[in-house]
Amino acid sequence: MLVVACIKQVPDTTQVQIDPVTNTLVREGIPFIVNPYDTHALEEALQLKDRFGFRVAALSMGPPNAEAALRKALALGVDEAILLSDRVFGGADTLATSSVLAAAIRRLAEEEEVGLVICGKQTIDGDTAQVGPGIATRLGYTQLTLVDRVEEIDPAGRRIRVRRKLEGRHEIVEAPLPALLTVVRELNRPRYPTVPMRLASDEAPVQVWNNAVLKLDEQGIGLKGSPTWVSGIFSPEREKGEIIGNGVGDPEGTAGLLIERLLAKDLLPL
Ligand SMILES: Cc1cc2nc3c(=O)[nH]c(=O)nc-3n(C[C@H](O)[C@H](O)[C@H](O)COP(=O)(O)OP(=O)(O)OC[C@H]3O[C@@H](n4cnc5c(N)ncnc54)[C@H](O)[C@@H]3O)c2cc1C
Repeated sequence: MLVVACIKQVPDTTQVQIDPVTNTLVREGIPFIVNPYDTHALEEALQLKDRFGFRVAALSMGPPNAEAALRKALALGVDEAILLSDRVFGGADTLATSSVLAAAIRRLAEEEEVGLVICGKQTIDGDTAQVGPGIATRLGYTQLTLVDRVEEIDPAGRRIRVRRKLEGRHEIVEAPLPALLTVVRELNRPRYPTVPMRLASDEAPVQVWNNAVLKLDEQGIGLKGSPTWVSGIFSPEREKGEIIGNGVGDPEGTAGLLIERLLAKDLLPL
């Protein structure tokens, strides 16, 4: 059985800034990382490989430099790594992205039974959390979102039981395979690659599939197949901060000043 981990290479958002003139992300010189939630998706796939002997494929759609993310996956122990890269895939919104990822998974399933697809809950750049459910919908797989624990898998009976993390409660759900999970950080602790694995991954092949391989109608992918687009991006304006008084030297006086200021702004109930 094959487990597919979907991983996206994203800019390290702790270092991203917005260009105040063009209102676009300044990407130059920003390091790229594997989307943090996707490192948990990868880890879970690898734990299932350790427990059940499943094979693991890592899948990423992106520009040629997204190969770096797949090399990291190879260094961690995935069996194959596939980069979906073609100019016609570019400019995709979440609908077009999930169509291409689903088509690639369908193609993998022609060779080997796919039991599970594991995605992160969301990315730290697009942040929509739409791609996982979009893939599941297109493939007709069960979708189990916000998973924080895989309770049990019965490969022979083709069933899975997971715990979902909801607000203020958990939910245990049992479902048939094949299933797509979207996962949260609490699921596991991602492993680090060993030095020999890291060195070996430099030589390991990353397959590149373009649209000559997937043969998708260009009207349904990339920019042409994207019914949504970003019309603007901006940081919300914030009032400049102000330091009141001398909190360390005169905490009581400072607290008094703060109360006065809050009362003046009508921010304290009397
Ligand atoms: C309205 C809109 C317009 C956009 N227009 C453009 C554009 O013109 N040009 C452009 O470059 N980008 C564009 N994007 C961004 C791009 O479409 C998204 O980054 C992409 O669709 C994934 O969405 P997301 O980052 O919100 O993923 P989410 O739905 O938050 O991701 C959930 C999970 O899906 C999986 N996943 C997501 N994307 C990938 C991927 N590429 N490969 C493998 N797994 C993945 C990961 O496991 C991830 O954790 C646009 C996004 C939106 C919302």
